[in-house]
Amino acid sequence: DVLLRVRGLTKCYQGDEKRLDDVSLDVRKGELVSVIGPSGAGKSTFLHSINRLIEPTEGSVVFDGREVTELSRGDLRACRRRISMIFQHYNLVHRLTAIENVLHGRLGYKSTIAGALGLYSEEEKRRAFEALEQVGMADFAYKRVDRLSGGQMQRVGIARALVQDPLLMLCDEPIASLDPKSSRTVMERLRWAADDLGIACVVSLHQIDFALEFSDRIIGLSKGRKVFEGAPADLTDEA
Ligand code: ADP
Ligand code: ADP
Repeated sequence: DVLLRVRGLTKCYQGDEKRLDDVSLDVRKGELVSVIGPSGAGKSTFLHSINRLIEPTEGSVVFDGREVTELSRGDLRACRRRISMIFQHYNLVHRLTAIENVLHGRLGYKSTIAGALGLYSEEEKRRAFEALEQVGMADFAYKRVDRLSGGQMQRVGIARALVQDPLLMLCDEPIASLDPKSSRTVMERLRWAADDLGIACVVSLHQIDFALEFSDRIIGLSKGRKVFEGAPADLTDEA
């Protein structure tokens, strides 16, 4: 039951040296895999190459039985609907409320028009509110997100990801801007999404302690290459 199969993923930016070099990884449903490594190791390049926000130079990505690197633009868009993303700087629309941001995740640009006209369906609003409840943010649903703390904004980011009913969540340094307490809350929500919803999560982190505590598996990147793969216990045994 491998959901995501990455083989030999490689990226050169404009003829430069390889910033991602022959990285392979299998991720099963409900698994949380952390990608660790210092700044510049290629973590972000790796995550973005999986759903082709960055076009990989070489390699293969099979997601849910389809070869992502061979999809046409239209099929890629359909495939990305089941791959949600979470970003370090949340990528929320600041002047909108939490629930409007979550609805935006489901409806994309149409939500701007729908929102202006008050055209969200009751079902869409119910699902968005439920996603905010799932991350403990129901009380903040009608607050503008620029009034929220970083940890709260990231939980709205997770809610926006959840309303897409993803099979996979790609989380690019989701806690890098957060204090330890908020980081823990965010990691607990990702762990919950993996365990209770069966969503596969690939999470880049530079905090190894959180990777050890919350992952099923950890891969280490250095200069674009995979230099380690194992369970958290394998890392602590070696240390
Ligand atoms: P990380 O996420 O681990 O910090 P990145 O994937 O952001 O690492 O970067 C890996 C390497 O690729 C770095 O050397 C970075 O400077 C380079 N890089 C990233 N994006 C680009 C780009 N658009 N053009 C050229 N080089 C890039
Ligand atoms: P739209 O279809 O609404 O025009 P865009 O493709 O312009 O959406 O992306 C809107 C935002 O969503 C951007 O911040 C982009 O980085 C982010 N994004 C792109 N692809 C995905 C994805 N698969 N899942 C979640 N967010 C994504």
